[in-house]
Amino acid sequence: MQVPFVDLKIQYESIKAEVDNAIRHVIENTQFIGGDTVKKFEEDFASYIGSNHCVSCANGTDAIEIALTAVGIGPGDEVLVPAMSWIATSEAVTSVGATPIFVDIHEDFYTIDPPMVSEKISEKTKAIIPVHLYGLPCNMEATGQLASDFNLKVIEDCAQAHGATYKGQKVGTFGDISTFSFYPGKNLGAYGDAGAIVTNDNSLALQCRRISNHGQQGKHNHLMEGRNSRMDTLQAAVLKVKLKRIDEWNRKRRNIAVAYKEHLDSSLIKTPQSPNSANHVYHVFGVQVENREHIMKELAKRGINTQIHYPSALPLMPAYKYFKHKPEDFPVAFQLSQHELSLPMYPEITKEKITYVCDNLNELLY
Ligand SMILES: *Cc1c(COP(=O)(O)O)cnc(C)c1O
Repeated sequence: MQVPFVDLKIQYESIKAEVDNAIRHVIENTQFIGGDTVKKFEEDFASYIGSNHCVSCANGTDAIEIALTAVGIGPGDEVLVPAMSWIATSEAVTSVGATPIFVDIHEDFYTIDPPMVSEKISEKTKAIIPVHLYGLPCNMEATGQLASDFNLKVIEDCAQAHGATYKGQKVGTFGDISTFSFYPGKNLGAYGDAGAIVTNDNSLALQCRRISNHGQQGKHNHLMEGRNSRMDTLQAAVLKVKLKRIDEWNRKRRNIAVAYKEHLDSSLIKTPQSPNSANHVYHVFGVQVENREHIMKELAKRGINTQIHYPSALPLMPAYKYFKHKPEDFPVAFQLSQHELSLPMYPEITKEKITYVCDNLNELLY
């Protein structure tokens, strides 16, 4: 049996007529950047998240950079980021001239661990970027408390957690400003690069809008220098169709996670944990195993594709050698980087495939 890691083709087939139609409509109208379709998607997405504003942009990395700039982060500032994330989180901090300060993650939830944060705070600390890693919301109550105690801006990186909730409220609504990626493989994915920023704050939304479109207010009226980070209309058209299905797809992901947990031998495999306050959307179903490389290879021989998210903690990547961090500085993130194995996860995976993955993985671990 072949089990791909993700299968974007089956999903496309399930929405083909509607997506093809939406794409054709954009092409026939020849409005390729911005326009009504982008505006409507922004409205739909803001209302889905429960936020006043959505500003679309070119990708999720730009979204973080634009959000950081909008809240006033720049050279000389320090920004707290988790030691385990996709590099975009810390890269965006460096791109605006600020310094990422890495914080270890919680040993069961893998998100930034609030008690670990306070010792990393200095006079230069201006913001924190909680990342809802793998689709699990961070402890936003503790994060909010820290932010108010130390006067920090909160920029939520929701790239992996569209539709996830914390205490019944969607992620993206807790921070001063929040960012999303619509990279094709994300829970809500476009057919190319795309991203968005959401906020309840009118002036931050306006600022993001200007930054992302050359500082313009109206055509040729450049109030400041900005950049080019706009969403293609084709992407908005696809996303608008897909947004209607995101809750159903997330529900399927949760059911798949339940099935995995039921079938996997928990005495040999550490499966994802989530606190009662959080509703996980399983962008990644990451388990921890011993002897990972061997297991990956054996699973591949049996047609099962797995991945690693991520093989190195961020501060230990070559890109951050200049910080001179050691694995002992981030024991939990380091441990995860050595043992994490992401199992196939996509809404359309069948029961048979899940069972096949579990049986093989259990067998390999005995
Ligand atoms: C995917 C991702 C991003 C960046 O998104 P792009 O659209 O690929 O630029 C940022 N943060 C996290 C946690 C991500 O997973």
